[in-house]
Amino acid sequence: MLAEIIAVGSELLTPFRQDTNSLFATEQFNSLGVTVVFKTIVGDRRPHLVQAVSLALSRVDIVCVMGGLGPTEDDITREAVAEALGVRLRRNGDLLAALYKRFAERRASMPGNNSKQADMIDGAEILPNANGTAPGQWLDTVVGEHRKLVILLPGPPMELKAMFTAECLPRLRAALPPRHIARRVLKMAMLPESEVDARLAPIYTRFNDVETTILAHAGEVQLHMQCTKAILEVAQGRVNELASRVEEEMEDAIFSSNGESLEQIVLYYLEIRGATVAVAESCTGGLLAQRMTSISGSSRSFLGGAVVYTDDLKVQFADVPEDLIEDKGAVSREVAEALAHGIRRRAQSTIGVGITGIAGPTGGSEAKPVGLVYIALDDGKEINVCERKFRGDRERVRWLASQQALDMIRRKFM
Ligand code: ATP
Ligand code: MG
Repeated sequence: MLAEIIAVGSELLTPFRQDTNSLFATEQFNSLGVTVVFKTIVGDRRPHLVQAVSLALSRVDIVCVMGGLGPTEDDITREAVAEALGVRLRRNGDLLAALYKRFAERRASMPGNNSKQADMIDGAEILPNANGTAPGQWLDTVVGEHRKLVILLPGPPMELKAMFTAECLPRLRAALPPRHIARRVLKMAMLPESEVDARLAPIYTRFNDVETTILAHAGEVQLHMQCTKAILEVAQGRVNELASRVEEEMEDAIFSSNGESLEQIVLYYLEIRGATVAVAESCTGGLLAQRMTSISGSSRSFLGGAVVYTDDLKVQFADVPEDLIEDKGAVSREVAEALAHGIRRRAQSTIGVGITGIAGPTGGSEAKPVGLVYIALDDGKEINVCERKFRGDRERVRWLASQQALDMIRRKFM
């Protein structure tokens, strides 16, 4: 279904006021599966509005006109829409009575102009206005051989929003074909977005009816899939089919297929394996511990650790041999191994994690540039070390180091 929004008001054609109502309405239409294909702004001139409405009726299914429903001379929406449709306006007795009553309650007499707010387009339903005097109108009609919905809404944003929500949404839902949306997100860690897209494009382009979006954050690429169908199970089936193809291609790079975070997944695996973790962190300053403990229930698997920023504390808290630091430097494969080994022994955990690196922006050298990080994992049988040269600022290097550590733990226990 296609819609056109027509915003009426000469002030919207000046540099001083912007049409914001159409943003709200577009969002609402989109949520119902209606695509807004044109937005038109027209001044308070009747012939111009007649032209705009006629054109809209010729090219979309839903015409939504907003503004110009007030009582003044320049409020011409009712008249112009009736003219474009070739139908009459009829004064509605109930609406007129309500208007008189409203003025009487304020002990004022109603100016003659106001009665035109009781004019209804022939065949239209009244949309009550909870926040003002101008009612909206809803017309479900046939133009030529095509069904058209014509909606008239008041301009003041507060009135428009309330009326759209209370009156238009239920009517639109009833008028539109049923639709159900199935969604799924697959998350991958520590892969470049370009690589993910290159490997997945040949797969997802074969699913025309599934909308896919690739979103990348630091150290994480997400594939969002969405499918809309009249029957929910059919939509879900399509999304799941694409997800399985993607899982076949990416295999263990995918850490989550139902929205979980990397931390959540890591703790889930640790728990089902009955494993525990302790960490000795230098350049990440406790970020890995922070991320793991942000998950409720993490105490069952995460024992704790040490932030060993200085050489002294690496020796004192994680038993890194002093001469090793002297020989190899604090940022080295060997020290990362010693950190993992030392903290594991101290904490008596299933695995120990050691992280040491140069987060920058200062402190780098030719041999050990900013972004160089070593992440080690000791499980008592073997020690795995990963050397990475991350690009980015301090924040990003630290985050990527913690992300790499989490992904290494995940791969060990998945
Ligand atoms: P009223 O009874 O208040 O005259 P109306 O339906 O005639 O209602 P307008 O006169 O067109 O509405 O607009 C009233 C006010 O609502 C305008 O002064 C403007 O501030 C705001 N407005 C109108 N249209 C829009 C729009 N498209 N986006 C944002 N604000 C709008
Ligand atoms: Mg007005």
